[in-house]
Amino acid sequence: MAVRPRRAGHGRGRTTGGGVRFGIRRPPNGSARTARGPWSPRRPPGWGVAVIPAQSARTVRAVRAVVVGAGFSGIGAAVRLREAGFNDVLVLEKGTQLGGTWRENTYPGCACDVPSTLYSYSFTPDAAWSRVFAGQREILAYLRATAERYRLDDMLRCRVQVLGARWDGAAGRWLLETSDGPYSAAVLVLATGPWHVPRRLEVPGIEDFNGPTFHTARWDHSVDLAGRRVTVVGSGASAVQIVPAIEAQTSAVNLFQRTAQWVLPKPDVPVPAAFNGLLDRVPGARGALRAGQYALQEGFGYAFRHPRAARLLEAGARAHLRLAVRDRQLRRQLTPDHQLGCKRLLTSSTFYRALSQPHVRLHPTAVTAVRGNEVVGDDGTTVETDVLIEATGFRVGELPLSKTLYGTDGRTLDEAWGGEPQAYLGTTASGFPNLFLLLGPNLLGGSTSAITVLEAQLTYLIAALAHLDRSGHRALDVRSAAQAAHNTAVQEALATTVYNAGGCTSYYFTSTGRNIFAWPWSTGRLVRRLSRFDAEAYTSDAPAWPLSLPAQARPQPGEPTVAANADECGPPPG
Ligand SMILES: Cc1cc2nc3c(=O)[nH]c(=O)nc-3n(C[C@H](O)[C@H](O)[C@H](O)COP(=O)(O)OP(=O)(O)OC[C@H]3O[C@@H](n4cnc5c(N)ncnc54)[C@H](O)[C@@H]3O)c2cc1C
Repeated sequence: MAVRPRRAGHGRGRTTGGGVRFGIRRPPNGSARTARGPWSPRRPPGWGVAVIPAQSARTVRAVRAVVVGAGFSGIGAAVRLREAGFNDVLVLEKGTQLGGTWRENTYPGCACDVPSTLYSYSFTPDAAWSRVFAGQREILAYLRATAERYRLDDMLRCRVQVLGARWDGAAGRWLLETSDGPYSAAVLVLATGPWHVPRRLEVPGIEDFNGPTFHTARWDHSVDLAGRRVTVVGSGASAVQIVPAIEAQTSAVNLFQRTAQWVLPKPDVPVPAAFNGLLDRVPGARGALRAGQYALQEGFGYAFRHPRAARLLEAGARAHLRLAVRDRQLRRQLTPDHQLGCKRLLTSSTFYRALSQPHVRLHPTAVTAVRGNEVVGDDGTTVETDVLIEATGFRVGELPLSKTLYGTDGRTLDEAWGGEPQAYLGTTASGFPNLFLLLGPNLLGGSTSAITVLEAQLTYLIAALAHLDRSGHRALDVRSAAQAAHNTAVQEALATTVYNAGGCTSYYFTSTGRNIFAWPWSTGRLVRRLSRFDAEAYTSDAPAWPLSLPAQARPQPGEPTVAANADECGPPPG
């Protein structure tokens, strides 16, 4: 569905593809295009979209802020920035469309696992979902409808890949190298997403596999699975959705499971239109539903911070397994050896049933090689395969761009981190002024909606920009001592959580054993910490660094490069 600028999607009860419907007549930010935030009049002159000459003959497009990526985070940032009166903002997206995760993951059965009422922006409380856990198409349609509703078309640029950026201390700006030429921005917001770079299956012989093979985030819809022998490698969040969705059409599914994971039932039912109508009519009903779901998710969070409480959930997961799987050996193979919550908690009411089908087989072993059309397990198992699906997850710790983002001392973010990503409140990084990382290190966990975390960060971002305007400073750089103290506290608090003490390895950890993913306290605490900009943690003057373009800005290995197809995101660049 194309994003039609400015008109569509505002009428009451209008369906905007995929079943998402907004229930109010006009955008809450009806004056968005002309809105002026409280600090707008004091904005330094010349900060609007402008073209300034670069040292090389190339032109540099200068804006107040560049947001990199147009997924949930980038779209959310654009809405909140515009609402706050910042209209000289560009969202640069390398894909052909907005949507991020929900544009890229199109595999059968793809859906969210946090209820949609919570896994959506708080500023669209009237979004009416067709299921408790919406599917990929509906979520993508929702993101497009949100971009339409908030009239973001003039902010969005698709098919523009940011290749790298360098902080120019003299100018107090970021100089960006992109596939569309250079840009300059006072503020750089990275919304590139933790679940973006696929972790491919790297075993000997994979290159010579005699058949189609693809990662779940790059589903090849031209491959017909009907009557084929399919092997799925991995047993995480994507695999538990894919196996039940495809098994009926295949002649065989072989699932290679390196580590058994806890699975709770998923109460995924359609939401009757009448119920949505009721929610529309009763004032405050949608808000109350969202609050209830937030509280429920926080209950999981509490359990993950208090391993004894996690045992209760574990009893529930065990009962689910016992009821769903009759075969004792299969049950044993599916029983995890770590505590619930240590790895991302899975939810599905169909996965165990699918595994119990006669043509579906679980292999509780890692894949170690591929030989011709055989997949080989660590325990010597060999399985003949027509189609090989890599449900192997993402390189969560590898922030796209970290290798080509140069800070005040000329080091890249990657070099500054030394393999252990960390930030102040998961949002700002010392030595990288005016840089904001959305869904950055140590902010998430296995329980909450990423959107709740994101929106708390956006409040902080807006407050930081307001502070800059009020104070007249050009740059804010978080003090290294504040960053270090925060991270020491985070790591200490993590030590007793189930993430660290639950007896597993997970993608939350670096190879050095540092948990770079989880927030160790309640989401409420996170929201409170980010609700106010704490200027005392920052220095306001950044050291100078000579203006020059990033030397060798290249996409990182494995990172998908700029798309080349038709553009549905906004007007063509330039
Ligand atoms: C299958 C799946 C299901 C999920 N379900 C849930 C759930 O139920 N609940 C939950 O809380 N979270 C869930 N997540 C996590 C999900 O990724 C986040 O909730 C959220 O969508 C992340 O949004 P984002 O905008 O930060 O990142 P993304 O959605 O990944 O978007 C990042 C965007 O940045 C672009 N980009 C990257 N690098 C560049 C560059 N150099 N230049 C220009 N553009 C660039 C990408 O093309 C992409 O469009 C799920 C993830 C997956 C993969």
